[in-house]
Amino acid sequence: MSTTVRVPAKINLCLGVGPVRADGFHPLATVYQAVDLHDEVRATVRDDDQITVVVHTELDSRVEIAVVPEDDDNLAVRAARLLREHAGVSTGIDLAIRKVIPVAGGMAGGSADAAASLVACNEAWGTGLSRAELESLAAQLGSDVPFLLHGGNAIGGGRGETISPVLAQGSYHWVFAMAHEGLSTKAVYAEFDRLNAHERVPDPEVPDGLLAALRAGDAEALGESLSNDLTEAALALRPELEDTLSIGLEAGALGAILSGSGPTALFLASDEQHSLDIAFALSSASSCADVVQSRGPVTGARLA
Ligand code: ATP
Repeated sequence: MSTTVRVPAKINLCLGVGPVRADGFHPLATVYQAVDLHDEVRATVRDDDQITVVVHTELDSRVEIAVVPEDDDNLAVRAARLLREHAGVSTGIDLAIRKVIPVAGGMAGGSADAAASLVACNEAWGTGLSRAELESLAAQLGSDVPFLLHGGNAIGGGRGETISPVLAQGSYHWVFAMAHEGLSTKAVYAEFDRLNAHERVPDPEVPDGLLAALRAGDAEALGESLSNDLTEAALALRPELEDTLSIGLEAGALGAILSGSGPTALFLASDEQHSLDIAFALSSASSCADVVQSRGPVTGARLA
């Protein structure tokens, strides 16, 4: 039996990063939004006990699938193994991932595939785990995985894995500028630590202005309150992203930030036409490999 699950990418409307913890993680205070850019994971039960994965994309896609592992390092495979162990299943599964979310783009594509794999395998194996059980497995797989099961808008605490609801209204128009090459999350955090080695990094907080903007569904106020503490570190590693951000702002974006640890840049538009204008301005920028218009929020990992 085959089951297909669609899963969105995430963006961080704010990303507050605190001082590195003893376990190497950084405490985060973030507001996630799930956006309309989806990967798909198909799970097909096997007769034997093997777990396999293949990754593919569309012919004209710029997504760098060559760097996505097709073995046990793939986060979708890790998710399937964890669920199988937890539920005591003995059969294997074939996973097929259709990638649309940029790889190492700061949009949590790998975590999204892990969330989708949990939902798809739970259905295909008929293990019947509850949402709460899937959430607890998701938190063991990575900081962003619980949110990608959930979707919508949510506050992320801890290292990002503790999610709580946020009062929000409105549907937002986004433009994403994809970079030519991914950026390692680990390298960006290492640069953040280097830049802050002699500073006292405060505990991170979600800005009140951003929560007020979401409560009111006010795109203009939201644009002004977008923030990302990893900006300086990501720009130190990829100075050309400064050009990308300026081009979108000059085209009238309500706000512009890097997505998570970058290098994807996000631009908020007031409506469809505005988002088309911003996308057009960015499409000729040499620092952009691809430009995509999108909407958010959308739901989390769901059966297709
Ligand atoms: P985040 O925003 O969570 O920090 P990201 O979006 O920047 O992550 P990912 O696309 O999740 O980055 O990929 C990071 C690395 O994880 C890749 O370079 C790849 O080697 C590895 N990886 C493992 N499984 C997957 C997967 N299913 N899809 C993409 N990358 C994967």
